[in-house]
Amino acid sequence: MSDVVVVGGGIVGTVCAGELLARGLSVTVIERDEPGAGTSAGSAGYLSDGEIFPLAQPGVPARILPMLADPQGPLVVRPAYLPRMIGWGTRFLLASRSRRFRAGIRAMSSLNRVANDMLFAFAKRAGAERYLVRDGCLHVAYERATLEHAEALVATLEANGIAARIVDASSARAMEPNLSASVLGGVFYPNAARCTDPFEFGRALAGAFRAGGGTVVRAAAQALVQRAPEQWIVRTSEGEIEAPRVLVAAGVWSRELVQPLGYRVPLEAARGYHLMLPEPGVQLARTLLFEETHFCATPMDRGLRLAGTVEFAGVDAAPDYRRSEMLLGLAARYLPGIRGDGATRWMGSRPSFPDSLPALGAAPRHQNLYFAFGHEKLGLTQSAVTATCVADVILGRKPPLDLTPFSLGRF
Ligand SMILES: Cc1cc2nc3c(=O)[nH]c(=O)nc-3n(C[C@H](O)[C@H](O)[C@H](O)COP(=O)(O)OP(=O)(O)OC[C@H]3O[C@@H](n4cnc5c(N)ncnc54)[C@H](O)[C@@H]3O)c2cc1C
Repeated sequence: MSDVVVVGGGIVGTVCAGELLARGLSVTVIERDEPGAGTSAGSAGYLSDGEIFPLAQPGVPARILPMLADPQGPLVVRPAYLPRMIGWGTRFLLASRSRRFRAGIRAMSSLNRVANDMLFAFAKRAGAERYLVRDGCLHVAYERATLEHAEALVATLEANGIAARIVDASSARAMEPNLSASVLGGVFYPNAARCTDPFEFGRALAGAFRAGGGTVVRAAAQALVQRAPEQWIVRTSEGEIEAPRVLVAAGVWSRELVQPLGYRVPLEAARGYHLMLPEPGVQLARTLLFEETHFCATPMDRGLRLAGTVEFAGVDAAPDYRRSEMLLGLAARYLPGIRGDGATRWMGSRPSFPDSLPALGAAPRHQNLYFAFGHEKLGLTQSAVTATCVADVILGRKPPLDLTPFSLGRF
């Protein structure tokens, strides 16, 4: 029997499992698919320290309605799914009040300030550092109204310990010569980084976990049962697995495992799409984020990846790959030379709480049950800081940051 069972072997579960193993515990990961792959495999690979702003912001609820009417907009809700969004949507509205928003920024920054350093250190220990490059990220805009807020944005970032600086049009084009003449400038994040192949990165970390003595059981977890304070049973498609402690890290699917234990888990699939361009026709020196359309272009080992946008349709709904395909036309506004020959499409589900903060640490009402899920758009970025915090809690040590804002008990 292992000291800890980790349910879910996506990027968060894999990094948590690796950290627990490195701290001397025996660890079993239960994963129904390929360990280390999961949603993050198709992500934009942007290690984004500057994404400290929860989606729920003052003024956003009013801006969402016109967005929903635009099929090429950054956010869509499938009409048939709207009634299922009422509970989550109400909590989203509550989270968009300015006091909650400001608290969210502080909480998010506490993770992001240390996230990239921790992920680089973790990847190095696992021999997977070749997939990470720290060359910053440039957020670019072509509308003057977008840039009007740049100074206030940079001030907020700096006040929260995140480095950022405003870049004018000519500096932006000096950094990225393929940018369109209509780009008016943007904001540069010098400590941001990128992953050059999130799928191979996850696989390399899972390989290092196995090579270090970790166990992976290929099975679907069906239920968590506590028989005694230090006796957890995970019922799986392949039989029961027992351990004194369980860490739930099953992304958006954590809800169905944790809710039956009596917790409120308002977790939704904020689905996103990518378009992978093997011959993009443009070369970028770093990740670009397009401010008006809210998605990224990340140079990767196998080409350029356009990834982002949000669709609420339920986790099991069929993908609408028009949302992948539209990314090429939208990106051409910033990168006129971009080409889509041989492009491939992908959809994945970000695990999203209404306040954009993950659930981290000890379960409020069960001993020896721990959570690491709900990282929304930042699961890759925050995987190692999550692992450090959760390992500290499991081992009875003080984590490097205050985990109170991340308790599932907030719902
Ligand atoms: C388009 C898009 C772009 C993104 N870009 C970025 C980015 O640039 N940077 C960033 O940091 N993040 C990004 N994200 C977000 C990031 O991908 C997620 O936050 C992250 O993948 C969440 O990781 P996870 O391990 O919690 O969940 P997942 O990656 O979803 O992994 C969960 C795992 O648990 C397994 N599982 C679930 N239920 C069970 C069960 N019952 N039994 C056994 N196994 C189970 C699943 O098979 C899966 O492997 C992006 C997401 C999308 C969709």
